[in-house]
Amino acid sequence: MRKLIAGNWKMNGALVANQTLIHALLDGLRAQPAVCDVALCPPAVYLAQVQALLHGQDAIALGAQDASEHEAGAFTGDTAAAMLHEFGVRYVIVGHSERRSYQGESDAQVARKAQRALAAGITPIVCVGESLLEREQGQTEAVVARQLAALLECNGNRVADMALAYEPLWAIGTGHAATPQQAQAVHAALRARLHDALGAQAADVRILYGGSMNAANAASLLAQPDIDGGLIGGASLKAPDFLEIIAAAR
Ligand code: PEP
Repeated sequence: MRKLIAGNWKMNGALVANQTLIHALLDGLRAQPAVCDVALCPPAVYLAQVQALLHGQDAIALGAQDASEHEAGAFTGDTAAAMLHEFGVRYVIVGHSERRSYQGESDAQVARKAQRALAAGITPIVCVGESLLEREQGQTEAVVARQLAALLECNGNRVADMALAYEPLWAIGTGHAATPQQAQAVHAALRARLHDALGAQAADVRILYGGSMNAANAASLLAQPDIDGGLIGGASLKAPDFLEIIAAAR
């Protein structure tokens, strides 16, 4: 399957810095074209700028970091999936652990966000993952299974059109990525549950790994049979690092 490397800028960026970063990425991908899909997920306020910078090329797709579970209306501060679509957004991260933690997003709410995204023609990248305590208590598979079950309950076989991202909370932004074996074990468990629900279509669902993926560890993580790409935070803000990760995705 063609891998997907998505950069999550989180709440980082500035007009001049965004332009410099995107020019460097496009130059790099012209010199060495990617054999995977690539997406950038800037903060919502920069979508129009990044859309313009990406105009006229197809090496990098536009993504977003969140979408509302509602279609439209009195939801101050939120962004509807249909609005993202108007700006050329192709992917949207939903259920990132930072939003689950700081905005109290529930499994059911994340599942509804994914549903809205698909309805608007955008591929959701649905994040799942356990905390350090949950891992230490042997709860990892139970936690990601619960998160996936909510997604399946709300979306049924439409989950086949989504991407998942396994992002252990203890690996995000810490510099301590999961080992390839740790990540593969969880990805395989997710794949097995997808297979129970979707049958053969489970093989086509991209399951990304996220959590301190960087230029040094990307190749070994991406070599695992059930790791179909990466969701990259910190390293996506540095063009050389992000380009190396992209080059490792074959
Ligand atoms: C993320 O925010 O999705 C992420 C994986 O961050 P980092 O790569 O910085 O750990």
